[in-house]
Amino acid sequence: MSAAKQTATPMMVQFLGIKAEYPDALLFYRMGDFYEMFFEDAILASEALDIALTKRGKHLGEDIAMCGVPYHAAEGYLLNLIRKGFRVAVAEQMENPAEAKKRGAKSVVKREVVRLVTPGTLTEDALLEARRHNYLAAYTQIRDTGALAWADISTGALHVVTCPPAELAPTLARLMPSEMLVTEATAAQWQDMADETKSALTPMPGPAFDSASGEKRLCALFGTASLESFGAFTRAEISAMAALTEYLQITQKGNMPLLRPPVREEAGATVQIDAATRRSLELTHAVVGGRAGSLLHDIDQTVTAAGARLLEQRISAPSRKLDLILARQQAIATLAEDTDHRLKLRDNLRGVHDIARALSRLALDRAGPRDLAALRDTIARADAICTDTPQSELLSELRETVANLGELSELLEQALVAEPPLLARDGGFIALGYDDELDKAKTLRDEGRAVIANMQAEYAEATGIPSLKIKHNNVLGYFIETTIVHAEKMLAPPLSETFIRRQATANHIRFTTIELGRTETDILNAGGHALALEKSHFAVLRQAVLDTAGPAGMLASNLAELDLTAALADIAMARDWCRPSLDNSREFVITGGRHPVVETALRRSGAAFIANDCNLSDDAIWLLTGPNMAGKSTFLRQNALIAVLAQIGSFVPAHATKIGLVSQIFSRVGASDDLARGRSTFMVEMVETAAILNQADDKALVILDEIGRGTATYDGLSIAWAVLEHLHGNNRCRAVFATHYHEMSALAASLDGVGNATVSVREWENEVIFLHEVKRGTADRSYGVQVARLAGLPASVVARAKLVLEKLEKSEREGGRARDALMDDLPLFAAMPTAPPPEAAARSEAEALLRATLPDELSPRDALALIYELKALLKAKL
Ligand code: ATP
Repeated sequence: MSAAKQTATPMMVQFLGIKAEYPDALLFYRMGDFYEMFFEDAILASEALDIALTKRGKHLGEDIAMCGVPYHAAEGYLLNLIRKGFRVAVAEQMENPAEAKKRGAKSVVKREVVRLVTPGTLTEDALLEARRHNYLAAYTQIRDTGALAWADISTGALHVVTCPPAELAPTLARLMPSEMLVTEATAAQWQDMADETKSALTPMPGPAFDSASGEKRLCALFGTASLESFGAFTRAEISAMAALTEYLQITQKGNMPLLRPPVREEAGATVQIDAATRRSLELTHAVVGGRAGSLLHDIDQTVTAAGARLLEQRISAPSRKLDLILARQQAIATLAEDTDHRLKLRDNLRGVHDIARALSRLALDRAGPRDLAALRDTIARADAICTDTPQSELLSELRETVANLGELSELLEQALVAEPPLLARDGGFIALGYDDELDKAKTLRDEGRAVIANMQAEYAEATGIPSLKIKHNNVLGYFIETTIVHAEKMLAPPLSETFIRRQATANHIRFTTIELGRTETDILNAGGHALALEKSHFAVLRQAVLDTAGPAGMLASNLAELDLTAALADIAMARDWCRPSLDNSREFVITGGRHPVVETALRRSGAAFIANDCNLSDDAIWLLTGPNMAGKSTFLRQNALIAVLAQIGSFVPAHATKIGLVSQIFSRVGASDDLARGRSTFMVEMVETAAILNQADDKALVILDEIGRGTATYDGLSIAWAVLEHLHGNNRCRAVFATHYHEMSALAASLDGVGNATVSVREWENEVIFLHEVKRGTADRSYGVQVARLAGLPASVVARAKLVLEKLEKSEREGGRARDALMDDLPLFAAMPTAPPPEAAARSEAEALLRATLPDELSPRDALALIYELKALLKAKL
């Protein structure tokens, strides 16, 4: 034993012993109604939770730091700690203090860690976001391949996919797991990637990933002789799933969650979308953070939490399986056409509970009666849904599931009260009439006096002594009392067989009966007995649910699917979306397309969105030029979003579309830097562009906005030029490429399959009016200076910029004269601290013009024109 332990109190010895097993976690050490933390844990937790730090005794001569949180409010504190990156080991008292005392006066109450709470293993509603999955992932690398397994233990979903290291980043970006398990040996290698998706990285010893022992564990978990019944898993896939289940054993202390059989995701089954693209398309999160402004937030009309989670899952990973997509589309179309059915369905779905999470809590023994009621009420709702529209094809699966749950439903209907309490702890959830013994115990508990009064009436009648009383005192407890005169009757047979004499007073004789004695004990014990009976019923009902976990889980997924289908049908009707035509070709024709999120925002402010066409079937690459603020970025994104929506099976914001399934979506829109990782804006832009050029295949959809803007004009133009040629010649993908380098429009003439498009504006009285109309052709200018003026740049800066622009354009027209002086562009303007006074500006412009003039090359006519120009310049400014 260490010196520390020798001098420590028995309780501290116990604490240190448990803590040593969980060095990486804060230890919640249960003491009565509190979870206490000691030493370093207390200091960390008090800071993180902003609670008082106190002291409790001494250890090795030093004060022991301590802080605590009340047991009944622990969930809130736990959540706070988990969000701040802590893991918490919860040590409970495994006996009561009296039991400990029996073992010796100095014995400490036995305590054990019953659960290790980590970000990826949460199950309580209070700790989870209802409308989001909470994934725990495990990654294994075996030589140059690998596998990622992920589970949401709050719903029981378990998936695995083969995932070479190069594909890990996009897969993680899609799933955003809260926690990722990796081997200790490789942890450092994945840290950056985990940081990117804000996943807690948990290293585990190599043996946890062993696929041979893991396979046995998995077979035992799913009660099957071989995993083959669920699919043909590779060694890497088994290894990843094995680590995941091993971790669940460790954290849940053997109480395994109700995992559904693993679903093996085929590589290439979903559209590949990397993290940068997800960010720029704002699929599930807006660029500014949070959900508002994202596609998910804009179109989420689901009425159940499970439906919302399914929508997020679909948007994060649109399908590439034509059959599956078309089937989903057909279901949406059916509901879109049948408004009556859809409205009824959505109404019924509003009463559906999150039974996937309830089931998981039941499996982990963390559930309460409300979880049972949630299942009961949800089955009833599902039944109502089937009854409301008996003939609908859509409901055939649900109907079958509901039929399989008939018995369970009946049991729960009979057993539970209408609105049970949250916790089983205090009873009060079993319905009257379900168990006679329980009813009696409750009656006794609640109505002890009335029961005795009834008995008194019965005895009075049986004896024919109306004055007979049942009374109570502390010595005898309940007793029957009658006057001496009447007592004689009771002392003689047959009454003497029932009534037993106990005591005589001056005027009365007191009796008891076996029944009265039993009733008295029953009254005394009734409360405890009723509670024990209710708890045993809870256990039985819980087991009945777990025995039906298959169909119950199926019910959860059927309802989530229906909710999502109805929600997408609803939005399709409300927003006038069209059913896209999909096939395996390379077509991409969108007529009257709109950006769903921008359209919603504009509608709120009373403005209309201008619908636009995009046809990448004739020219696979569109080179889009156009003024600033014209709507280029919006147009680029809307086409990608329409592809995403089409491939989740949804209708899309357009008049008509024909899309050949997209395999990958790449989007590089807007500038961002990553200074934390030492990457400048331009570097990030180039890294992302490199990723696109290296990965995009001929089924990819690429949208690129202003490639090369982050560097000097000619470098940028050259890069943009070469990138476009590469997309055209090597990637051969469908792409929309927006640029302000109008020089690039010339490429359309030389590259077959590259076409020009532009967003039109109109100039009116020196103002620029944005029409937001995309049409074939090229833009002649960017109107950047006008937009800058609209943005509120000082008038002197705008005037100066206008002038410089005119010069530049003029010199351009005249074959580059003065370009040396003027095209050395950005630094010239950037270095100028303030605009010079008008005289100086005019003089310097005149000087610059003269300096750039080569007299030997001037014709007499040019010379004359130059003099006029110089005069005009001075006149205008002075
Ligand atoms: P820049 O070149 O300056 O980045 P841009 O051409 O990419 O600009 P966007 O950012 O796409 O322009 O659009 C600017 C604004 O114009 C949007 O915020 C939106 O309000 C409006 N807008 C864009 N497209 C449309 C449209 N089709 N109909 C109506 N308004 C639109």
